[in-house]
Amino acid sequence: MIPITSVRIDEDQEALVLEVLRSGQVAAGQYVERLEEQFAEIHQVRHAVAVNNGTTALIAAMKALDLQPGDEVITTPFTFVATLNAILDAGATARFADIGDDFNIDPAAVQNLINDRTKALMPVHLYGLPAQMDLLTDLADAADLAIIEDAAQAVGASFRGQMVGSFGIGCFSLYATKNISTGEGGMVTTDDDEIADRLRVMRNQGMRQRYQYEMAGNNYRLTNLAAALGIPQLDRIDQLIEARNRNADRLRAGLAGIEGLMPPLAATSDRTHVQHQFTIRVLESAPVSRDEFVEALAERDVGSGIYYPKVVFDYDCYRAHPGVVQDHVPRAMTAAEQVVSLPVHQHLTTDEIDRVIEAVGEVMQP
Ligand SMILES: *Cc1c(COP(=O)(O)O)cnc(C)c1O
Repeated sequence: MIPITSVRIDEDQEALVLEVLRSGQVAAGQYVERLEEQFAEIHQVRHAVAVNNGTTALIAAMKALDLQPGDEVITTPFTFVATLNAILDAGATARFADIGDDFNIDPAAVQNLINDRTKALMPVHLYGLPAQMDLLTDLADAADLAIIEDAAQAVGASFRGQMVGSFGIGCFSLYATKNISTGEGGMVTTDDDEIADRLRVMRNQGMRQRYQYEMAGNNYRLTNLAAALGIPQLDRIDQLIEARNRNADRLRAGLAGIEGLMPPLAATSDRTHVQHQFTIRVLESAPVSRDEFVEALAERDVGSGIYYPKVVFDYDCYRAHPGVVQDHVPRAMTAAEQVVSLPVHQHLTTDEIDRVIEAVGEVMQP
């Protein structure tokens, strides 16, 4: 089976983790700081604050804004559920703007939702492709809104030369299957000294000095062990992104003549793509349904994934939730019915990619 994701730990990661184990500094430690420094440098921001997962990165960023009940946050309906849960955790109300051809939040749809209660925009750089940050920044500036970027899937991506995570408060995930992984882990990035300070105090029980509490905080700390896993990967992030793009280019070229599917948008002069996922649409004109397509690929030993099968608020637990507005998002609903992600990760061989292309071609033959 060619898997949709593959987790491999290299020898330099093993060595660094072993060093941490032998040092006994398994909780806090110098590698957390080193990972933060690397992360800040890559994303060209003044501060990177390590936390224990991507969801807490989003929650901490939301809390740093001091939102009040009734305040609205506009996000995309086509995302992982953590985006929504973080908004609800902060006690705010989630609004959903429909998506564009890039699978990301559509700035025109955002504009229609902005009102007196709107306090923040939360774009998601889905699959590793940045949202249209120029237009979103203009909208945020005009209405005095904070920007929180869910960059969980987009470590190292940029829009017009500006790194994701530097447009507002950036939230990243270092979960096992993300492009850069510490098992579980997350990072919050910001250029704002005050917000960075709040985040650092917040993640440590609201404590700046031992048993002196400044706020009701939490334990969002990343471990030294986890940080040691991440450091060697960040050293090689350019190669990782290059490998994923090479794979995506090969997939795109190989799938070009096949009818019934739509390949994803490529990187443009405006934005780089870090190819967390390579996501096609199985169109209505295809000889098979999306679910049959996935099954037929599996029969040919090609793994795939559906990210995401429904729009994020289309579940019973959110239907009557006071913090969730069921906005009209037809394009996101169509995407949820059509998307399939194919293997694109950096460990694939060209032979395996060719096998993916061949399998897709076979399944799409009427
Ligand atoms: C992975 C992910 C998260 C959450 O990150 P965790 O580290 O799993 O908590 C949030 N948003 C998006 C878009 C993600 O893909």
